[in-house]
Amino acid sequence: MAFDYDLFVIGGGSGGVRAARVAAGEHGARVGLAEESRMGGTCVIRGCVPKKLMVFASAYPEAVAEAREYGWDVTAGGFDWARFRTRLEAELDRLEGAYRNTLKNAGVTVHDARAVIVDPHRVRLASGEEFTAKHILVATGGWPFVPDIPGRELAITSNEMFHLPALPRRALVVGGGYIASEFACILNGLGVEVSQYCRGAQILRGFDDEARGHVANAMQANGIAIHCGTDVMRLEKAASGIRAVATDGSEREFDLVLYATGRRPNTAGLGLEGIGITLGRNGEIPVDAYSQTAVPSVFAVGDVTGRINLTPVAIREGHAFADTVFGAKPTTFDHQLVASAVFTQPEMGTVGLSEEAAREREPIEVYATAFRPMRTLFAGKQDRVLMKLIVSRATRKVLGCHIVAPEAGEMIQLAAIAIRMGATKEDFDATCAVHPTMAEELVTMRKPVRTG
Ligand code: NDP
Repeated sequence: MAFDYDLFVIGGGSGGVRAARVAAGEHGARVGLAEESRMGGTCVIRGCVPKKLMVFASAYPEAVAEAREYGWDVTAGGFDWARFRTRLEAELDRLEGAYRNTLKNAGVTVHDARAVIVDPHRVRLASGEEFTAKHILVATGGWPFVPDIPGRELAITSNEMFHLPALPRRALVVGGGYIASEFACILNGLGVEVSQYCRGAQILRGFDDEARGHVANAMQANGIAIHCGTDVMRLEKAASGIRAVATDGSEREFDLVLYATGRRPNTAGLGLEGIGITLGRNGEIPVDAYSQTAVPSVFAVGDVTGRINLTPVAIREGHAFADTVFGAKPTTFDHQLVASAVFTQPEMGTVGLSEEAAREREPIEVYATAFRPMRTLFAGKQDRVLMKLIVSRATRKVLGCHIVAPEAGEMIQLAAIAIRMGATKEDFDATCAVHPTMAEELVTMRKPVRTG
């Protein structure tokens, strides 16, 4: 049977665009791609990219204060949200254009419409147009999840954060994960009075306990009111804002309530169940190591599969899929030792096992140091950096590395290479320090602080 396309991709985010580009541009496949919103997906349009630009914007008051301590006669003045937002929107337009160009140059046909699956080889666009395809790739990502509490319509999600008409005076951030903690810091840096409610005992569950405690302490020292063990029971309209009635008995008013309580795979109404794909508990599409679903012609990559919700992971999964199916090169992506960074202030970079997870697995040594780094110490600040290595007592391999520091994301990328290669603690020790840096502490920690 002759198909309209060799591959039809649903979703123009990180995973879908990479798969489409490689399948068409490198392997000569005839590829169609449908995107119902803006090209670029969560990362480019409403995630990593605009978030990081907001992180940069929010760091200037501290930088200016620091510059004064270094002898500069400067003051921060005011922040013009509207001016920043206009530039941000222009940058997102530029990036969206770049994504479209990449696809065009690779020979991918883009359909600006929602697509649903009709049968294992057929998709239907919102326009009613139908296409057949030998393979279908679902790369529809995720969507913010807001629990069903009374007044939830008064809250916004990270999707809306980049388009606020104005910055609020008082904000409540609900959740303790990546997104909640990052936006708490961004808003705080921009001069907003921030409270963060987190239902757990500490923010950033799943990360190394010492590292997340370190981040939380620093956030609090920077002025964020973190309330752990606290959840919102209901939101109400108040005379001057939104009233949050919380499980700790408090009733506080805010101008903005941001819910960052996780994301769910974007699978509703895609027609997956109709072709025999049973979705997982959170709505994710179960796939094998080659990203193939239970229906052999249908594959899925990225957040929609609920594996690791990170852009570079989706990109690798999309690339591996294209090489496997169209490049005659069966390729899987190894989900072990994926490094990541939380862009709080201070940043946290992490790769491998937390101390707690490693301890469950085998006997370990823990090397850790916390110190005041030169740059901020000179400026009279109390900020402390944390460097931590978890080492296997049996193999001497470094099982995990956790850094809380300015630019920790940049540092962890490099540490991740060594750790992926199986570096031992002795390999770290044998590496000569780069001086004076913060990262040199990673190769100068001589004695374990704990064993277990
Ligand atoms: P996370 O899963 O990281 O965090 C969700 C938070 O919301 C947790 O604190 C969770 O609490 C809490 N929560 C969940 N359900 C409820 C509820 N019903 N009521 C109250 N609180 C609730 O999700 P995010 O939304 O922060 O981020 C989604 C994903 O996006 C992340 O997992 C990450 O992979 C990715 N991401 C990565 C970034 C990066 O690399 N820098 C940045 C942003 C996102 P509890 O811990 O108790 O379950």
